[in-house]
Amino acid sequence: MTSQRTRERLIQRLQEQGIRDHRVLDVMRVTPRHIFLDEALSHRAYEDTALPIGYSQTISQPYVVALMTELLLSRGPRDRVLEIGTGCGYQAAILAQLVDKVYTVERIKPLLLKARERFRRLGLRNIISAHNDGAIGWAQYAPYDGIITTAAPARVPEELLAQLAPDGVLVIPVGPEGDQELRLIQRQGDSADFDEQVITRVRFVPLLSGIQR
Ligand code: SAH
Repeated sequence: MTSQRTRERLIQRLQEQGIRDHRVLDVMRVTPRHIFLDEALSHRAYEDTALPIGYSQTISQPYVVALMTELLLSRGPRDRVLEIGTGCGYQAAILAQLVDKVYTVERIKPLLLKARERFRRLGLRNIISAHNDGAIGWAQYAPYDGIITTAAPARVPEELLAQLAPDGVLVIPVGPEGDQELRLIQRQGDSADFDEQVITRVRFVPLLSGIQR
């Protein structure tokens, strides 16, 4: 089930659904998604679906990972990117192969520890991670050229907007559980103005506050 043919079928499906950026498709083709799942589920790794990763969390659907990554890169190169919600680490691993440096924050410690192990295993040395509440971003390394949030807040946190570099983009699902929209937000130059575009309806786990040990 983890054969090259199975993976190729997934990439084809992503293309049929409208993913056009070849950099994204190429990186997803060569990144083993099965190592981000528990063994009992790894045979389903190349289905285009979200799957449980424990602690009531999920690995995002490949199409959504592809779409968010494509959006993040759609308005020029992004050197330094912040991800909120490391989860199993799959989205961060994809990003790490497309940008210089990835900063990623996760509030559930055991998930973060497992993700770090996978980054090591894949030799991804440009991912810096922290166990923290990402709803307030990660001020220490700000500003970021891009920020991706993989859990949905009820509204866009001001802290994330404040940590965007000039012309930086924020890709974020926003709204109550079961009724969220994916937004692409771009800071206009070095101003405090933001251009906002609604991309599509999505389903994400909620962005929670505080940390879990
Ligand atoms: N990026 C993951 C998706 C994980 S699901 C992937 O590639 O599949 C979203 C993750 O966001 C969960 O692991 C959840 O624990 C985490 N999360 C939710 N609220 C958070 C917060 N305030 N700070 C950091 N992580 C958070």
